[in-house]
Amino acid sequence: MADAATLDTAHHFHPNTNPVAFAKDGPVMIETAKGAHVHIGGKPVLDMLSGMGCVNVGYGNEKIARAIYDASLSLSFAHSFASISNPYVARLSQKLVELTGGLFNRFFYSSTGSDANESAVKMIWHYWALKGQPDRRIILSREHGYHGNTIVTTSMTGIHHYHHQFGLPLGGITHHVKTSYPFRDGLPSAESAALGAAALEAKILELGPENVAAFFAEPVQGAGGIIMAGDGYFDLVRAVCDKYGVLLVSDEVVTGFGKTGHMFGYQALGFRPDLIVMAKGITSTYFPLGAVGLGAEIEAVLTADNAEFEHGYTNCGHPAGCAAALANIEVIESEGLIDHVNTTLTPIIARRLARIAQHPAVGDVRHLGALAAIEFHVPDGDHDHATIGLQIALAAFERGLIVRDQPSILGFVIPLVTTADEMEQSFDIIEDAIADVTGHKVW
Ligand code: PLP
Repeated sequence: MADAATLDTAHHFHPNTNPVAFAKDGPVMIETAKGAHVHIGGKPVLDMLSGMGCVNVGYGNEKIARAIYDASLSLSFAHSFASISNPYVARLSQKLVELTGGLFNRFFYSSTGSDANESAVKMIWHYWALKGQPDRRIILSREHGYHGNTIVTTSMTGIHHYHHQFGLPLGGITHHVKTSYPFRDGLPSAESAALGAAALEAKILELGPENVAAFFAEPVQGAGGIIMAGDGYFDLVRAVCDKYGVLLVSDEVVTGFGKTGHMFGYQALGFRPDLIVMAKGITSTYFPLGAVGLGAEIEAVLTADNAEFEHGYTNCGHPAGCAAALANIEVIESEGLIDHVNTTLTPIIARRLARIAQHPAVGDVRHLGALAAIEFHVPDGDHDHATIGLQIALAAFERGLIVRDQPSILGFVIPLVTTADEMEQSFDIIEDAIADVTGHKVW
């Protein structure tokens, strides 16, 4: 029998991978993982990306693994169509009501972030139709935003390299709005926030408020580069949405379940969304699960409709997934992981980033909870074709650290269980990698 790498090279068509380079180089095989480390080639590597921003409580947690095992033995599957349910999904729904302080009182389940966002779009369209405003179809989202890889959510995604191969975005239904990005706007935080909110209002007016259904936004734009809007942005955005009757959706697929130093990003930033979308950290991705939380107004309209809601997936409310989510939330709460982020990790992140910010190649550092980024100067302004971020991430990987590599940005989605030593060690590696690539040490 050939080894796994040979089998993979021969038979696995990888997502988001250059097939020609893959055929030549083969896979990077992750053999095992524990806590904040993955093991590659028998060596421990610090994973400061938490997989894909998803392994919130770290790898190899026995409580979650056992919860999945127990649920699978007792009820390996139950669907949720036609009023069928199971005790795990019922308990998880109650728990999510509690975690959102009742702002969301009813939850719909899916398997991923993409199909959760896709479901949210259908609910929103149905909601507006029931309200007698069927022309409200347009979904707004932001430049640099990421909302998934299905056809509608790829279209909502404001990162354009995801569009070209597929003739997307879909015309008419989705439109992108300038985001607030203080560093690249070259503006003080609050002015950048005002610029971003003004861009949203201008887009709504251009398209006609009567045609605009919703505005989807990540509290912190994750895949786009851990981008944090200017201070007060979400208050301004909420006011714009209220003025024109547009629904505000918080896409918390990355920011949910402790990553911002709060359970959810909207709580960290203090704004009130009409819907919330979750996935990844809901189970720390021990099992694929997504969810959409309905705010009171949408819940009231959708649940008063005396007709079947014609949307669902085989895996909606999967018992093992919901058991994994309950165990995962129990781990976050009982082990005080959000406190750990705020009291142990945040001071280290702040101190080390302030030091790194002094380096002449560094243009911006930013962080919130377990999310952080280092952005480099790009003298010609062409951020898409810069290579400094890619080179430094590669140098860091060779030294035993995974971070998100982007042309001019290093992104961190730090596992909540990271110890103080692991955090310091990660920044030591980053400093060495910056020195390797730029020839200048971080002092
Ligand atoms: N929304 C956000 C904010 C994401 O970052 C992602 C994935 O990275 C998605 C949605 C899509 O989630 P999935 O890859 O589980 O479909």
